[in-house]
Amino acid sequence: MATPLVVIHAGAGRKFGTASEQEHRSRAALIEALDAARAVLHDGGHARAAVEAAVRVLEDFELFNAGRGAVLCADGTVELSAALMSSDAAAGAVAGISRTRFPIAGAHAVLDSPQVLMLGDAADRLAAEAGAEQVNPTYFITERERGRLLESPSDPDHQTVGAVCLDGEGRLAAGTSTGGIRGQPPGRVGDCPLIGAGTWADGRVAVSCTGDGEAFIRVGAARCIAAHVECGADLAQATQRALESVRSLGGRGGLIALDADGNAVMPFNTGGMARGFWREGQEPEAWVIEEDPQARLLEPEDA
Ligand code: ASP
Repeated sequence: MATPLVVIHAGAGRKFGTASEQEHRSRAALIEALDAARAVLHDGGHARAAVEAAVRVLEDFELFNAGRGAVLCADGTVELSAALMSSDAAAGAVAGISRTRFPIAGAHAVLDSPQVLMLGDAADRLAAEAGAEQVNPTYFITERERGRLLESPSDPDHQTVGAVCLDGEGRLAAGTSTGGIRGQPPGRVGDCPLIGAGTWADGRVAVSCTGDGEAFIRVGAARCIAAHVECGADLAQATQRALESVRSLGGRGGLIALDADGNAVMPFNTGGMARGFWREGQEPEAWVIEEDPQARLLEPEDA
């Protein structure tokens, strides 16, 4: 038996926004996502179902870069990606989709299929056949993002979303969902849907990354953390080493990770990372603007 634990992020970038109303709404969305995961776990649900429940809430919140309100490609279209993995080596991911309302549900559909990664229209079709809600691609495009594409076509801010979870049975899961990087060329795929780069879960750790995707891919960041842990590093050391490797390639970003012992970390080397944390027996907590260094590292004894 394990003490259930959920960590979420909504992207590493500059400090999130400046308008306090956005701050307030973003924080509320993070808490809602934690509550959604918590409800699944209270019903005895699987870590993977809890991750999916949290990510769906974050995808639905239009200020984050996933699902509706995601960043736009250079030509004004939207291309969404998501990945879902659990400690039993079940994995599914979608890239470049534009019709599945909750891209993480698309990743779930792929996870239930013989494939691991599906692209574009074929991925949307597979998701639709599995019963995932479909929408017109324009559904995802907000006025806010249209304006931001015109004003700052390659703004490095990242508000990709992700969740990692340890459930009461000791199972681990990770999920990540994104629109990629604002102004990216259509067809670009970042780290998020690549199992082992932006998303990973095995019997020891669960990881979801955010940041400069190309650097995270070159490092194989999420799997690299698992390898460091396998070799005896603790979670904080393992994640720092991975972020250092990302940084050595000029990449910036952050990640959330937890291990089977209930340790959780949320490191980032950017100005901020919106994130949240809930452990059974505690109230959910979320950080959008304030940077409490203690909040980056949470160990079971803090419970
Ligand atoms: N890592 C994502 C990508 O490269 C971007 C992000 O984290 O917001 O597509």
